[in-house]
Amino acid sequence: AAKDAAPAANETAPASPGDRAKSEAEKILGTGWWGTGNYFSITKIVLFIIVFWLWVYTADWMNDDMEHRKVESREMRNLQFFLIYLIGSAIAFYIPTFWAAFPITVLVWIVPAVVYVKLRNKGLPEPEKVWTRDHIVYVYAVLLSKIGVKVKMKKRMSYETGVPVELAPTEKGAAPQVLQGRLILARNAPGYNDFRAYLYDGLLRGADAIMFDYTPQKTVVRHQIDGVWIEIIEVPRVVEKGKEKDKLELALEAGKLLLGANPADRRSKQGGPFVATLNKTKYDCEFVSQGTRGGEAMMIQFVRQKVAFNTLDELGLFPQVQERLRTFLNAPKGFFVISAPPANGLRSSADVFIRNCDRFTRDVAAVEDVMHPDRQIENIILNRYDSSKGESPMTVLPDIFFKEPQAVVVREMVNVDSLTLCCEEVVNNRLIISTIKAKDAVEAMFRFLAMKVDPQLFASALAGVVCQRLVRKLCPECKEGFQPPPQLLQSLGFAPGTVKELFRVRSPLPPELEQKRKPCSTCNDIGYKGRTAIFELIELNDELRSLLVTQPNPAAIRQAVVKQRQPGFLQYGAELVRQGITSVDELSRVLKM
Ligand SMILES: [Zn+2]
Repeated sequence: AAKDAAPAANETAPASPGDRAKSEAEKILGTGWWGTGNYFSITKIVLFIIVFWLWVYTADWMNDDMEHRKVESREMRNLQFFLIYLIGSAIAFYIPTFWAAFPITVLVWIVPAVVYVKLRNKGLPEPEKVWTRDHIVYVYAVLLSKIGVKVKMKKRMSYETGVPVELAPTEKGAAPQVLQGRLILARNAPGYNDFRAYLYDGLLRGADAIMFDYTPQKTVVRHQIDGVWIEIIEVPRVVEKGKEKDKLELALEAGKLLLGANPADRRSKQGGPFVATLNKTKYDCEFVSQGTRGGEAMMIQFVRQKVAFNTLDELGLFPQVQERLRTFLNAPKGFFVISAPPANGLRSSADVFIRNCDRFTRDVAAVEDVMHPDRQIENIILNRYDSSKGESPMTVLPDIFFKEPQAVVVREMVNVDSLTLCCEEVVNNRLIISTIKAKDAVEAMFRFLAMKVDPQLFASALAGVVCQRLVRKLCPECKEGFQPPPQLLQSLGFAPGTVKELFRVRSPLPPELEQKRKPCSTCNDIGYKGRTAIFELIELNDELRSLLVTQPNPAAIRQAVVKQRQPGFLQYGAELVRQGITSVDELSRVLKM
């Protein structure tokens, strides 16, 4: 319609001065998107293109901003922003009057952008907000300074700018004035903002710890994510002229000042606790520095809220294994052991297992050290001893057994007396559940034997041992399918041709494409996100019991377990690989533990 209307208007003869003026104006501006004659007006097209470029710039900034802030609905928001503009512009093209159509293209750019900024500024700390008075002044000041104009700005305190992480030392027993003094000292240190920036990065990536490995040539920064140290960046040591220290050294000095440590001392072990606050969430942190052979190592650990599992399903335990496990936990008698290597979730898994022990129709008692309290479990009678007073489970066990409970949970045996008494009680129709740190089920047995318990007594009481290890899960966003070669399937115990596709960490693209690629926002290009467990459950039988007494060496027991076809970590892990939950590489890393 616009196409026909515009030229027609120019052909009509002007009748009055008013009409003539209107016609003159139309000659210049045209009526629709078309100029005089049958072509687009250059002015209008230029105006449109300017708005279009502004829109592209805004869309790009929004996308980067959302990525930076880890907004989960980023792609949805991008699509919305795009569709609003597309539909708005399409409508504008069908409006015959240009000066009615053009504002629409401006509005469909500006209104969604304003709404976005309003929503994003909500809940963000001041330095992160955009379009505030301070921010606009700042942007203009930067632009004007490029052409030599200096604008006076309200000077921000150094700690008010930069990343939105606030720090506070929290040493127990230290006077508040002392802690406040340390904070002021750290805030005035030149590296304070960089120190916060390193913390911020670690928190955003979901690290459990940050390690700085300092040498006179370079510093390697690593994050511990899902139990694995990942190199994040290698910072070469660059010292500016006239200065003695590089930026990273200054950052770590600020960290030491915060904890009241001596920055000049780079040999002895120093450190302490502090709290980092990010978006109103508080993180308990621990900072340790110590000299190494080549320089100095510093570590910041975050005490994150551990995910608490409640059911065997949540633990990811396969139904068949759940059933076998329940048989042990609800057996009338026997000594049952729950084990895991250090830092492999023994405590939280033991909680779940114990919850699955029938504690509603049976009397279940538990022994706990006052110094290491566990998560409360309903319907279990708790009996406490105090290890700081030299007490052990033996302090309370005789009284407990006197009351004849059907099951007793003793997480830490502590000494041979407790262990012996528990094994003896199994004969009196009692179930004993205990935990121990060990890399596999066989090692768990030998850790108990190493306490010098009578092997005959222990072997006859022992009913079963479960062991768990944690494996990282492949990132669901960027994992890559591949056709497994027959040898690989065979090594996992699958018959050839039974598995069509397995998954692995994404392979890198050719260098020039790899550089342009945006990193995976789910896993930060690590390829893994979160962890799950693999299990090994050994059921004691006559052959294993007699081996424990006559041939007490781990290799012999392991061999017998394999011969009896009791499924181990490999079988369990292979199933996770088959389901695409983890990779062959990750499984072999964990199996080599
Ligand atoms: Zn990913």
